[in-house]
Amino acid sequence: MTKIISICNQKGGVGKTTTTINLGVGLVGAGFRVLLIDADSQANLTTAMGFDPEEVTFGLPEVIDGIINEQEFVTTDAVLSHKEGVDILPSHIGLSNTEVRIFSAMNRERLLRTYLEKIKYEYDYILIDCMPSLGMMTINALTASDSVIIPCQPHYLSARGLEQLSHTIAKVKRYMNPDLRIEGILLTMVDNRGKFVKEISSLLRSQYGESINIYKSEIPLSVRAAESSAEGRSIYAHDKFGKVANAYKELTKEVIHGAENKRRKNKAENVR
Ligand code: ATP
Ligand code: MG
Repeated sequence: MTKIISICNQKGGVGKTTTTINLGVGLVGAGFRVLLIDADSQANLTTAMGFDPEEVTFGLPEVIDGIINEQEFVTTDAVLSHKEGVDILPSHIGLSNTEVRIFSAMNRERLLRTYLEKIKYEYDYILIDCMPSLGMMTINALTASDSVIIPCQPHYLSARGLEQLSHTIAKVKRYMNPDLRIEGILLTMVDNRGKFVKEISSLLRSQYGESINIYKSEIPLSVRAAESSAEGRSIYAHDKFGKVANAYKELTKEVIHGAENKRRKNKAENVR
């Protein structure tokens, strides 16, 4: 059974792309087949995996346009393979025009879902790197997903932004995708040298921890993370034994564990 997860937060620069890549490559390391989707017109994921968005002639924008126009195309045409074992559905700046066209399309919230229904059987996990907005492309990602991971810097978590995001997720759940759930909040760029970091982290855990899963693994702030995306590879290839790689390895375990629990629960409910 494929698990589709959106990595989403409308706040910019919180580690969505970095998390999509390193969780994705982590899942490959654990033996899973993984597709990463670049659902951002900035195409940072495409670049950070070493591909040039300007050379992408058939990526997510073309796939979505193809679905809008009901064109027949080979469904895996757009998929690139990365040497670290993940597949990538790349993007480019044209996604912003596509997003405008989505507005007037039939079934506009479900275009990405329609595509993923055709290819999902080839993967165990599909991770969607969302753009920093709650526009139509993000709504498409949420409608296509089983769950959402929200990367967030600790000192922003209590801000209104999270409320807006929860509101959007609740709306998608109500109207488009009743099974959508929040997989968890991931604390990113955690600067352990900061004065109140531990206090903020435990305050958040006591404030939200009951209602939303906050991952035990926290991603530390480290220049290694930024270096690895500049080099077009994951943190495991760049700094295998470093603290960021370790933290993403732990996150990968938590995500796999969460998926197994969910599967067991579904099975038990079906038996009943
Ligand atoms: P956007 O909203 O623009 O899509 P994003 O949420 O996807 O941003 P990233 O691109 O993953 O965020 O990260 C923002 C910047 O911070 C990048 O330059 C990235 O290399 C860097 N970065 C990511 N994680 C870390 C970390 N743990 N420590 C230090 N720098 C990091
Ligand atoms: Mg990004």
